[in-house]
Amino acid sequence: MNLHEYQGKEMLSSFGVRIQRGIVAQNAQEAVAAAKKLTEDTGTGWHVIKAQVHAGGRGKGGGVKIAKSLEEVERIAGEIIGMDLVTPQTSAEGKRVHQVLVAEDVYYPGDNEPEEYYMSVLLNRATGRNMIMYSTEGGMDIETVAEETPHLIFTEEIDPSVGMMPFQARRIAFNLGLSGAAFKEMTKFATALYTAYDKSDASLFEINPVLKTSDDKIMAVDAKVTMDENALYRHKDYVALRDLREENPIEVEAQEAGLNYVDLDGNVGCMVNGAGLAMATMDLIKQAGGEPANFLDVGGTADAARVEMAFELILRDPNVKAILINIFGGIVRCDRVAQGVIDAYKNMGNIDVPIIVRLQGTNADIAKELIDNSGLAVMSATEFQEAADKVHEVLS
Ligand code: GDP
Ligand code: MN
Repeated sequence: MNLHEYQGKEMLSSFGVRIQRGIVAQNAQEAVAAAKKLTEDTGTGWHVIKAQVHAGGRGKGGGVKIAKSLEEVERIAGEIIGMDLVTPQTSAEGKRVHQVLVAEDVYYPGDNEPEEYYMSVLLNRATGRNMIMYSTEGGMDIETVAEETPHLIFTEEIDPSVGMMPFQARRIAFNLGLSGAAFKEMTKFATALYTAYDKSDASLFEINPVLKTSDDKIMAVDAKVTMDENALYRHKDYVALRDLREENPIEVEAQEAGLNYVDLDGNVGCMVNGAGLAMATMDLIKQAGGEPANFLDVGGTADAARVEMAFELILRDPNVKAILINIFGGIVRCDRVAQGVIDAYKNMGNIDVPIIVRLQGTNADIAKELIDNSGLAVMSATEFQEAADKVHEVLS
């Protein structure tokens, strides 16, 4: 589950991480009120208006703008809210902006130039430890830094049972070239950031940029936070942070129906029981010259209602040219699945793409007979390769 920048920053702040302060606004009037309040609280003259969508690279897409007066706050907020923001991380249609974060300007002039760093905390699956990744090259794509100047990316591995040690925080500040007050601030920042990641059961906290202000304060200007959904039961209050408007509507609906569905770009819809078999089926489709349109695990109970729901979700994707159903009947009997497929097909009445069904396991022979005698445009297959050949046939 991803969070908005403003939610991530609030979470960081609650763990003692210094942040660029801001107030979220749903419309231009609220943005003006937010700007006034921020000026009262922080003394800021200028404000930054930041689109709140689940995508990075907003600055490049025109979703982050400076406002130098309340009139500009009103105008810019009005322009950004309601726009379809296109960034390097969105599709070509972009993402609709429903709200903006009005934030204090923290790039004010002073004794030193403001400087931007990069810092993230995530799990290193290879070592089973947490990892702080950081770089002097903040504010830009970390992928580009990794490609062009990998020696400017540092990592600090943290044993989760011990936590971050003070010497590690000092090493981070040192590697970032800091001294004096900024050095101390950075050790506090990194330590609190790690605590936030650890205590909230996040799978990612990415702060890009971390800013050193002209008066040597260290703060989070941006926040990309991903929560581990498997740990949400321990954080009931985080559930409300989910913004369904940011998620794929078909995936949300599938989730509500208890189906495990991931939308993909291909042309062959698949309906499978079991995640492993689903992965193998996607490979099979590729081998047959197609591309999977989705990952769909219908789970153990592939009854008519679920099959119909799955059909309906798959068919909402206009790119689907064929559907491959690959079900292993272990607990669920194949003949019941076959009957479910036939019933769903008849009920829906508008299916105009070829369907290939491979049923294996308990009562597979009865299932094949049911399909073959149904009089519907459904092809049955028993072997894996046979299913692949039929997919190939209907695509060519
Ligand atoms: P992203 O483009 O989606 O990663 O959004 P960010 O929150 O990282 O903001 C993009 C850029 O806006 C930052 O890299 C900064 O250069 C700029 N920015 C953010 N806050 C301020 C601010 O308070 N003042 C100024 N002048 N620029 C800011
Ligand atoms: Mn950023």
